[in-house]
Amino acid sequence: DARLRERAGLADEVRRLVRSGHERMGREVVLHYQPQVDLTSGRVVGVEALVRWQHPTRGLLPPLVFLPLVEELGLMQLLTGHVLRRAAAEAATWSHDGVPLRISVNVSASCLGHPDLLPLVDEVLTGSGLAPGRLVLEVTETTLMADPDLALAVTHALTHRGVQLSIDDYGTGYSSLAYLTDLPATELKLDRAFTVRVLGEPRTAEIVEATVALAHRLGLRVVAEGVEDEETRAVLHGLDVDESQGYLHARPLPPADLVRWLTTVPCPGRPGRPALVVGS
Ligand code: C2E
Ligand code: MG
Ligand code: MG
Ligand code: MG
Repeated sequence: DARLRERAGLADEVRRLVRSGHERMGREVVLHYQPQVDLTSGRVVGVEALVRWQHPTRGLLPPLVFLPLVEELGLMQLLTGHVLRRAAAEAATWSHDGVPLRISVNVSASCLGHPDLLPLVDEVLTGSGLAPGRLVLEVTETTLMADPDLALAVTHALTHRGVQLSIDDYGTGYSSLAYLTDLPATELKLDRAFTVRVLGEPRTAEIVEATVALAHRLGLRVVAEGVEDEETRAVLHGLDVDESQGYLHARPLPPADLVRWLTTVPCPGRPGRPALVVGS
């Protein structure tokens, strides 16, 4: 009973938050950014935007606490609009300051199928000046399977604009290889479930190696999620994985911390040496 009341209370708060307009959303819906590192050059080439709710009394809430409620309330498209605008604006600033990073944004099934998505992406690209090729939309296999024909049409329209498409959490859903060949994806994100097993399990390593080879033949780059230690990073590099993302490099960071962190690592635009302080 108490749990149900708690959930209903949070749902009410989510509803008010998402409908509150830009000012409050801008204050409370924040993005943390997690770096993606090229395994060959060691450079940071992109970041994934991960949403958090800076709640006035409950503290910083992770997506899994409030996103299901946002989805249930039919408010995901509104939230995604906010996330996309914010992420593109921040990425455009870094680019302007000499660190042109790719920015990845997660898109749920309800958003991919929503008629407002394409106009939203157009508006965000025009408004921010972000190069379309620097924007990556992450979708999961389940998102794509919900309505394959619609998913194909929308993803083709997106890539026609130059926006990149990533298949998130790859390997956890019901992957159809035939279907993958039709999708205009540019990136495949190996789920953390594979990453954590690749050291101890030879068979998992075999599967990852074969998956990477297939992805490369289809022209996709492969990013491994959830890389937490150096040994795993080295094994993944040996299996020809292109990029690594995980606590080994950095946790998802608030923008100011990311900018500070970027000064300690090589980035594109500043080859071979640490980036200068961005935005200073
Ligand atoms: P995801 O897209 O698969 O994101 C990766 C998750 O793994 C993130 O959790 C990240 O913090 C976590 N992670 C990264 N590196 C490591 C690691 O080395 N070890 C471990 N144990 N975990 C790691 P987070 O931020 O809690 O996000 C959870 C999920 O929420 C995301 O999974 C994504 O599906 C969803 N999400 C986040 N932001 C958004 C958004 O703006 N829109 C939508 N639709 N979904 C979002
Ligand atoms: Mg993701
Ligand atoms: Mg993922
Ligand atoms: Mg995952």
